[in-house]
Amino acid sequence: MKTSQALYEKAVAVLPAGVNSPVRAFRSVGGTPIFMERGEGAYLVDVDGNRYLDFCGSWGPLVLGHRHPRVTAAIEDVVSRGWTFGTPVAEEVALAEMVVDKLRAVEMVRFVNSGTEAVMSAIRLARGCTGRDRVLKFRGCYHGHVDYLLVDAGSGLATFGTASSAGVPEAFARLTATMPLNDPAGLAQLFESLGGELAAVVIEGVPANNGLLVQTPEYVAQLRELCDRYGCLLIFDEVLSGFRMPKVMAYEQYGVSPDLITMGKVIGGGMPVGAYGGRAEIMQRIAPLGDVYQAGTLSGNPVAMAAGYATLREYYESDVPGRIEELGGHLDRGMQDALSSVAEMGYLRQGSLFWLYFHRDEAPRAAEDISGQGAEVYARLHRFMLEHSIYLAPSSYEVGFLNTAMTEADLDRFVEVLRAAVKEGLV
Ligand code: PLP
Repeated sequence: MKTSQALYEKAVAVLPAGVNSPVRAFRSVGGTPIFMERGEGAYLVDVDGNRYLDFCGSWGPLVLGHRHPRVTAAIEDVVSRGWTFGTPVAEEVALAEMVVDKLRAVEMVRFVNSGTEAVMSAIRLARGCTGRDRVLKFRGCYHGHVDYLLVDAGSGLATFGTASSAGVPEAFARLTATMPLNDPAGLAQLFESLGGELAAVVIEGVPANNGLLVQTPEYVAQLRELCDRYGCLLIFDEVLSGFRMPKVMAYEQYGVSPDLITMGKVIGGGMPVGAYGGRAEIMQRIAPLGDVYQAGTLSGNPVAMAAGYATLREYYESDVPGRIEELGGHLDRGMQDALSSVAEMGYLRQGSLFWLYFHRDEAPRAAEDISGQGAEVYARLHRFMLEHSIYLAPSSYEVGFLNTAMTEADLDRFVEVLRAAVKEGLV
């Protein structure tokens, strides 16, 4: 770890905590972040030459693993011709056509540069369409770092939020109502008092940023029904869940029709891309067709579009969801067996997302159900995994990501290391 440690020491002098995104800093698991040098399929290689089976997958984009040959070739092809023109390019049309063709909820799409931008822009669009300012989000859902979505609940149920970050004006936070997930009675009550003021309700397709908080189809159907009744838009934030479910998108999994969806991660194949899309009548309100302004110097960048397009072509042509279910089923059996003697730790999987959780009873469905004690156990497990060449996300609240570069043998090794951790009494 000599080179990684030396890099970290240099980094902290010039980058806050040595990182450009907080959770990379290893604050919740202890130790110092590992500097990576390259990716090889299912593996990461650090600057000291250590190789890790990678369950972080760059936090979601790499559903095909690192450096898939088809994606590499697409990127190289564009770069050889230039990498930004500030004009329309064929690559953005190809990716847009693919998305519109494959996703029932999307008749038109607009590309941006991150998931945060996608959600921020979708909410502006919802506000523009409804003429209302307020939005509802759920505690435990993360939608990027836009001001009015960095909000926690105030006291009580149907309250407007308070800023959960310094620098977020309370006036912005007050535009956002927050409530717990999986609370049908509370939801009905909230809509009764505020439904007429809401521009949009935003929910993660499958909440996966604060554990994996799988919602029931009945609850999602109720949400759709209430949005219809009160004339507010339902936004499914599929930045993380998109292209990671057995039926591709979470809204398909639930059989619901959102008004807008937001995407990111997989859709850019590992390049900085976000997107929002929905029914044409809504999307046509975006400038320059309509009065909702949204723009971007590098939006629809050809390298990013080509990486996304190559990723999605491979995704559909080689039936990635099918292969993930095979791999996932294999992992499920191994995990259930490895954890059979551990009463306080559970394992959950939805498509290519999995979560190790710490709870005595059934899997949590709301942030409030998650046991805080899990963080300490996870920190021990995280260290043990690293020592055994397995790279998990450095926080107990984060999910693990499967990808098609992984093999059954890779997953067996993961299970074996977990078994060893259980044997040593670490979990
Ligand atoms: N929405 C969801 C559901 C996310 O998981 C994330 C990031 O993890 C975002 C939005 C923000 O995306 P980005 O980090 O690309 O801005």
